[in-house]
Amino acid sequence: MDERSHYRICPLCEACCGLELRTRGSQIVGIRGAEFDVFSRGYVCPKGAALKDVHEDPDRLRTPLIRRDGRFVEASWDEAFAEIQRRLLPIQQAQGRDAVAVSVGNPSAHKYGLLLYFGRLAKALGTKNVFSASTLDQMPKQLSSGLMFGHWLSIPVPDLARCQHLLVIGANPAASNGSLWTVPDFRGKAKAMRARGGRLVVIDPRRTETAAMADRHHAIHPGSDALLLAAMTQTLFDEGLVRLGRLTDHVNGVDAVRDAVAPFTPERVAARCGIAAADIRTLACELAAAERGCVYGRLGTCGQRFGSVASWLVDVLNALTGHLDEPGGAMWPLSAAFAHNTQGKPGVGRGVAVGRHASRVSGAPEVFGELPITLLAEEIETPGPGQVRALFTIASNPVLSAPGGPRLARALEALDLMVSVDIYLNETTRHADVILPGRSPLEDSHYDVAFPQLSDRNHARYSAPVFEPAPSHLPEWQVLLKLAAIAQGLGAGADPVALDDEAVAEQVRKLAGPHADAVLKALGARKGPERLLDLALRSGPYGDRFGMKPDGLNLAKVQAAPGGIDLGELQPRVPEVLRTESGKIELAPPLLLADLAQAMALIDEPAPALVVIGRRDVRSNNSWMHNLPTLAKGPQRCTAIVHPRDAARAGVQDGQRVRLVNEHAALTVPVTVSDEVMPGVVSLPHGWGHDQPGAQLRVAAERPGVNLNALLDDRLRDPLSGNAVLSGVAVRLQAVAGG
Ligand code: SF4
Repeated sequence: MDERSHYRICPLCEACCGLELRTRGSQIVGIRGAEFDVFSRGYVCPKGAALKDVHEDPDRLRTPLIRRDGRFVEASWDEAFAEIQRRLLPIQQAQGRDAVAVSVGNPSAHKYGLLLYFGRLAKALGTKNVFSASTLDQMPKQLSSGLMFGHWLSIPVPDLARCQHLLVIGANPAASNGSLWTVPDFRGKAKAMRARGGRLVVIDPRRTETAAMADRHHAIHPGSDALLLAAMTQTLFDEGLVRLGRLTDHVNGVDAVRDAVAPFTPERVAARCGIAAADIRTLACELAAAERGCVYGRLGTCGQRFGSVASWLVDVLNALTGHLDEPGGAMWPLSAAFAHNTQGKPGVGRGVAVGRHASRVSGAPEVFGELPITLLAEEIETPGPGQVRALFTIASNPVLSAPGGPRLARALEALDLMVSVDIYLNETTRHADVILPGRSPLEDSHYDVAFPQLSDRNHARYSAPVFEPAPSHLPEWQVLLKLAAIAQGLGAGADPVALDDEAVAEQVRKLAGPHADAVLKALGARKGPERLLDLALRSGPYGDRFGMKPDGLNLAKVQAAPGGIDLGELQPRVPEVLRTESGKIELAPPLLLADLAQAMALIDEPAPALVVIGRRDVRSNNSWMHNLPTLAKGPQRCTAIVHPRDAARAGVQDGQRVRLVNEHAALTVPVTVSDEVMPGVVSLPHGWGHDQPGAQLRVAAERPGVNLNALLDDRLRDPLSGNAVLSGVAVRLQAVAGG
């Protein structure tokens, strides 16, 4: 049988590398980085080869499952949808729309059928109880970007190719290849920056892979990022280093920022941050002096009580040092499709609104249409009107990924109905009544919807399906439309393709007015996400405007370009990129100023003797990756790393098993003693704990690890964004007898 070569955008992490897959019949015989990919240029990390494991995993679900008498039995798609209809409608009718919640997980960002159609399901459900992994991850950055620049995904990213000074805080791109920053081969690019005389500085409680390759590393006490960034901002004003440059006429609120950070002197915050005042001044002065440079912050800055403030101050620093929207600084990509900051009138918009409704029990404000996912358990447990009685999970595993997972697991058992769309029977979906399996990523075409909006170079890349799916296996976009039809009362027999035709015709009528018929004709026979993609590309900033710009982009052209189409380096976009009401960058949103004032109290709060932080591993991203043999082999990775001083205090030795204890949990885990972490900090990776009965992740269960989130407190969150506090929670370290 002949070997064939296929091009595929890797769906396993945000770097979105182009892969070349070689197949023989239905077998994958090789995976490597696609040298001809215009964006990733042959780069591949160890996870890329595991795509074969995902496709071939015997644990991956291929048939709908219905729980009958306490155990899952295989069912047809029609039976599954009929079961959902039978049980969902009475709940909606008796208890209202908010009685049905929905939770969507991070893998949906890598399947455009899920990402483009999830909104249709959420709208059809008509519930306020929408949850996602965003409040375990990046919601603070989305909030600060929305308030400053007018849209939730207008997030500036480092232009590493031209950068000469990169300050990284709370991020580990050498392991992740970027997050909210799509930068395949970060290592290679950072080394190139240093080779041309540039400087990499890292601030992190752990000497991460990124810190290990940096020119300088400052260890910071977990939870104090906002204080450090405020003190750096104060230094800029204090030392007369503020220069807005080209943005001078496009920024509101400089004086308000100066007044707000005035109390946060380096001397005042130094002890709480664990960084000397002189070093804080140097960090600010170096950034200001850099001809081309920027600050980049990520999950570490987001998963804190002041996550939104810290995320905001990252961009305040970039703006005040003249590095925002400048080559080599923090810039906005110009995405070919789907970016809201390329739509509507350039340079002005409606901005973003938060708190349009609040969670029923705790009163937490809605942000970006979502409520904090750590509040899902209490919404299920607490009786009263609007109590959640049914749940849809879409590629979402909050039992492992959210603080308070064990509590949530108990709450899920009390639901009247739980429906999951997922490729695995995992720690969350084991509680479902019906599981609808997603397809293998290799059985669907793909185009990244979100990540080109965050990429370090502009591009348009499409990958075709590698394998034919089983004829009966519905694509996820149709699954979501069927569920939406059931929720709307259209019945389980509704035709999702016909429903989509109607919705697209309506969308085109709004977009094209009198030209709608011509546009629909130009879209031809395409269906589902491919049709939405063609529409978005053709009406996007590089688009062919349906023939009006014959040299412009359309899907056919992108499909015909092996490895995609390069759209060039990042370009300055202010004021066109802005969608604030004022048409300016809002440097001092009142919500953030008010919360910064609250951070003063943090300075004098006594820091716990030992706190836990998470850890990103190059061989892991999502919890289900622990079921992939290629990634699961090798040394045990779910280990606690503690500093020699803390190990000596607790009387534990390297390699021993230890107990991490607090009021929420007691976890027993092997320990690595290393000065890689600062004193007073223990590092544990997230996404482990695969020892739950009923889950079907057989490889992961062989070395289950422990669940970091069991130690975290589901009541702690950044009140502005609703993001969970994921680091800095107090724990005790205990030796295990005989361990
Ligand atoms: S870096 Fe991410 S996208 Fe690239 S090969 Fe690895 S897992 Fe895939």
